[in-house]
Amino acid sequence: MKDLPARRLLLVHAHPDDESIINGATMARYAAEGAHVALVTCTLGEEGEVIPPGLAHLAADRDGGLGEHRADELAAAMRELGVTDHRFLGGPGRFHDSGMMGTEQNHRPGAFWAADVDQAAGHLVGVIRSLRPQVLVTYDPDGGYGHPDHIQAHRVATRAVELAADPAYDAGAGAPHTVAKVYWNRVPRSVAEDAFARLRDTAAGAFPGIAAIDDVPGVVADAGITTEIDGTAYAARKTAAMRAHATQITVDGTFFALSNDLGQPLFTTEYYELVRGTPDVGDGAREYDLFAGLPDAALAPGART
Ligand SMILES: [Zn+2]
Repeated sequence: MKDLPARRLLLVHAHPDDESIINGATMARYAAEGAHVALVTCTLGEEGEVIPPGLAHLAADRDGGLGEHRADELAAAMRELGVTDHRFLGGPGRFHDSGMMGTEQNHRPGAFWAADVDQAAGHLVGVIRSLRPQVLVTYDPDGGYGHPDHIQAHRVATRAVELAADPAYDAGAGAPHTVAKVYWNRVPRSVAEDAFARLRDTAAGAFPGIAAIDDVPGVVADAGITTEIDGTAYAARKTAAMRAHATQITVDGTFFALSNDLGQPLFTTEYYELVRGTPDVGDGAREYDLFAGLPDAALAPGART
């Protein structure tokens, strides 16, 4: 039994690669600064497309095996970010990738989209009550861009925060724990617009096409941003983590593409909207630390229960 560090951050994501693309710099920074950074990934991403032709046989409509391969990619990415605590919700393969909205994969037995939210959340309650994170990061109710597994990850994470705090909920899952701050992943529209302008000016030729701003998950008006985490010093780690997801991502300098080959910016400052807890903005307009404003008593080392 080993005490966990005073600051504990839990991130909930849908597929391997989402964490590195969206939060890679944040995760690397907090891990380097001695916080406990834990990742729960809800599916193995079995339905993803495969970029490298040499690995195309792993696709679900070919030989299969992409989920296991992506679990290995995720482990490699976490080594790049310095994150040692990463798990799959309910264990690897417990919930299956649902594919894009409207596909028949959404309704297959075991599909994450078809899972009962309370039942799936129960797995996460155990993690929350064990790690006792002060901060949880997940997607907005639209999953950032409408993918069923991302929407479901939001629902499950949100429900798990409620249940973990409820003393009446399954005593077998550990002592109740209230997560002090919950954040949704965001990108300010002005930052996205500037970055896409730079992409068009400097790197358009590197990609067959360029993504639309609204392809980027979580883009909102700047006023919706409460918190920004400057991970510039961890840019190389984030880039390396994204490269580790080689079946899903190609990186070119400060830009990357998914399997659709459309270039988009790689952000090393990452943005959030605080939706539970009190923002601690000091004299500025934003927070610059996910743990900002938490009382010392909330930041004590935590024993695993
Ligand atoms: Zn995803």
